[in-house]
Amino acid sequence: MGVCELCGRDDVEITVHHLLPKEMGGTFGATANLCIPCHKQIHALYTNEEIAARLTSLSDLRKDEKLGRFIRWIRKQPSSKIMKIKKSKERRKR
Ligand SMILES: [Zn+2]
Ligand SMILES: [Zn+2]
Repeated sequence: MGVCELCGRDDVEITVHHLLPKEMGGTFGATANLCIPCHKQIHALYTNEEIAARLTSLSDLRKDEKLGRFIRWIRKQPSSKIMKIKKSKERRKR
């Protein structure tokens, strides 16, 4: 468990992201500690080629429009309760 360097939530499960993808030569390059949803989102939105071309630092990732929107959303999600979101949907009706 640790702090996600992208969304800033703490007490989340941490995965290591290569800022320059391994496939693009970043095996020994800089890494960032990211929570699983942030990490998945980066790779869902962008190919390794796109990441290598313009998203090789945390500030670049944060400045990205689509990722920025995701970060604003994920920040509001409780760190350990992501898996339970579905169950609480019923209660959100007003
Ligand atoms: Zn995160
Ligand atoms: Zn990654």
